[in-house]
Amino acid sequence: MSAAAPLGLYVHVPYCSVRCSYCDFYLVPAAGRDLEGYVAALCREIDAAGEAWGGRAADSVHFGGGTPSLLAPPLVGRILAALSGTFRLARDGEIALEANPEDVRPDRLGALRDLGVNRLTLGVQALDDRVLGLLRRPHGAAQALRAVEAALTSGIRSIGVDLILGLPGQESREALAGIERLAGTPGEGRRGIEHVSLYLLEIHPRTRLGREVALGRVAPMGDDAAAGLYEEAADLLESLGFEHYEISNFARTGHRSRHNMKYWTDEEYLGFGPSAHSYAAGRRWSNAADLRAYLESAGRAARQEDSQPAAGRAAEALFAGLRLAEGVDLGTLRGRYGEGLPGPSDPAVAGLLEAGLLVLSGPRLRLTRRGRLVSNEVFERLLS
Ligand code: SF4
Repeated sequence: MSAAAPLGLYVHVPYCSVRCSYCDFYLVPAAGRDLEGYVAALCREIDAAGEAWGGRAADSVHFGGGTPSLLAPPLVGRILAALSGTFRLARDGEIALEANPEDVRPDRLGALRDLGVNRLTLGVQALDDRVLGLLRRPHGAAQALRAVEAALTSGIRSIGVDLILGLPGQESREALAGIERLAGTPGEGRRGIEHVSLYLLEIHPRTRLGREVALGRVAPMGDDAAAGLYEEAADLLESLGFEHYEISNFARTGHRSRHNMKYWTDEEYLGFGPSAHSYAAGRRWSNAADLRAYLESAGRAARQEDSQPAAGRAAEALFAGLRLAEGVDLGTLRGRYGEGLPGPSDPAVAGLLEAGLLVLSGPRLRLTRRGRLVSNEVFERLLS
């Protein structure tokens, strides 16, 4: 990796207005919180990063969470000013923000656009009020559609939505109709969304949904039915002109997520805020997931170094690259991580090539379509 490659910058906002029933992320309720105080701590952490990284070029900023759209635009502006003071932000850099539909208002979108935000991802999840209720999302389908419409007319360059499939009681026909409604080509002269992140529901035992399932009050969709629905949805999105460029992500030409590409191509990034992860100069570390300590120390909370051996890091880089449609350049990765990575003649790789789950084109190894559907199994076999 060239030391001069631009960094990605991640800003974590750990607040949510309510906890969705399936969510097991680290977050805190937003009600009554001092968001200005949080932003002040973030800005101090960013300023302090100047000691080690000051003046480094960066070409993506990603506000993730939690719910970054809880931050009023002037607070987003303060964070961007701190980042510009520490890093050399590219003029054509990506500035992305995740937003929940209930926070979207045309005046806010205009203010974000004027601050340089050029990518917005809306957490729509589904266009079915019953399913949204089960997820305990604060928005309904009509509000989600209004938010998408407002985003598309805001002048922000890339608009995307997050959707979940495989939800308890989700009807395939309705789910596909919802995707078509969101991602289909709108009428003449009107713009459609440019990016879709499509996830299969994961049920974590410690969540409200996990407990409901354990008690037998909610029946999850079967694995085969969920995988079948995912395939149909992927086909639909491809037929609508989206490239299935990563296992869970679809984009129109020129609208891939630049920031997330850094994770999948083993490029460097720095994260700010509690629980944020960083990877730079061959090191990986994360901030403690402890908002109180973060605020009390004004953004200087404890960090934990990733002490994983090189082989584990190499495997992570390999699996991340395999998530992409174009796969991963084995030669480049071996140059970076050494011979610890499996080569084409490694028995595990050879077996997966023969099984039609992987394909090798020149130096690039990638998953086949069937391999993508069982990617976890492929990764496990590679690890073994
Ligand atoms: S909005 Fe996102 S981060 Fe917040 S509770 Fe819901 S799923 Fe979790």
